[in-house]
Amino acid sequence: MDLLDTLIAKGLNRELPTREEALAVLATTDDQLLDVVAAAGRVRRQWFGRRVKLNYLVNLKSGLCPEDCSYCSQRLGADTGILKYTWLKPDQAAEAATAGVQGGAKRVCLVASGRGPTDRDIDRVTSTIAAIKEQEPAVEICACLGLLSDNQAERLRAAGVDAYNHNLNTSEGTYGDITTTHTYEDRVDTVQKAHGAGLSACSGLIAGMGERPEDLVDVVFALRELGSDSVPVNFLIPFEGTPLAKEWHLTPQHCLRILAMVRFVHPDVEVRIAGGRELHLRTLQPLGLHIANSIFLGDYLTSEGQAGQADLDMIKDSGFEVEGQGEQTLPRHRADLAEQAGGCGAAAGGCGGHGEASGGGCGEASGGGCGSHAAGGGCGPCGESAPSTASAGKSATEDETGNELRSDLVRVRLRGAGTELAPNA
Ligand code: SF4
Repeated sequence: MDLLDTLIAKGLNRELPTREEALAVLATTDDQLLDVVAAAGRVRRQWFGRRVKLNYLVNLKSGLCPEDCSYCSQRLGADTGILKYTWLKPDQAAEAATAGVQGGAKRVCLVASGRGPTDRDIDRVTSTIAAIKEQEPAVEICACLGLLSDNQAERLRAAGVDAYNHNLNTSEGTYGDITTTHTYEDRVDTVQKAHGAGLSACSGLIAGMGERPEDLVDVVFALRELGSDSVPVNFLIPFEGTPLAKEWHLTPQHCLRILAMVRFVHPDVEVRIAGGRELHLRTLQPLGLHIANSIFLGDYLTSEGQAGQADLDMIKDSGFEVEGQGEQTLPRHRADLAEQAGGCGAAAGGCGGHGEASGGGCGEASGGGCGSHAAGGGCGPCGESAPSTASAGKSATEDETGNELRSDLVRVRLRGAGTELAPNA
């Protein structure tokens, strides 16, 4: 296919595809799917080999958000059955983070619901980071706390944060359809504040909210323009109790096309399969590893992921390997850029850096939200979503347009941070 040959050549040379080429990837057929995956895989292996970076979410503060993001299980007034709690204590957060690191995670993503942190919240996060670093000095730290005010990014960097996650989520043109309490420009401003303070920018999207292919391409190109070092791709978790509960538009095949399009537009940055991975890729998850070089280990912010051991088994069985603490995530040229900016990648070893270890960035997820969060889980990253245990065991059904409603696959997270139960790592 001429299209794929062109995209491979551009990806290997770090050239930007055209919008038409990106749209053409989304329009490929199921018969062409394996060729699309193989082409994106060529680009992935060029810049990231067979390494898979594991990230671990710690939900510092869950639910109780005053914002109205339609995809989010933590939004104002949502009746989603998720855990609701205020700030974890530093030792509680450190315990959860350590479980993730011992499970193989290189980066810990600290997420809190809400519009944005107060200066007192930054103090809390500072104490939490100190507690985590005491136990895991080499771990990369990404913070995802919502919209930042002046000087907060600088304070986070001084506290040892390597990266800041704040997703754009969708195109500028459709942003007002999913959220009314803040704007697309607010989100761009926070990503720029983080970047300007020397933090590695982690910013991604949520697919499956009813957007057009053109909107997906718009947000993916906007992320490249913003200079995101890591791009979490969330697939909407349509949580019961949210306005998007009936939006089941994604198929495993289309999720792979979306991932491939993101890889071609972002050939040499971290592309992460975030929230909704298990729900929408289902048995095709291993094919996603041929395109993306990063996933979340275990659970998401408000929904359960598959068992952490199942993530590790999938990586090994598919012929990939978990990226170690001492390995550099981003290719050298990209890490150099980050170092010049003073951010991750630099001496701390962060996102791209030198191999050393400690730096980081987040993004996650699909749970949508603030930053990461996209997929349903709220601010955080990650992916969350999941509707309540009440839906567990429900059989799959279809809506009037033939979309398969798989709410039976959504599970609210009821273990790990904020509970007495052990985390899934
Ligand atoms: S995405 Fe973040 S800001 Fe939006 S409702 Fe969820 S927790 Fe609040």
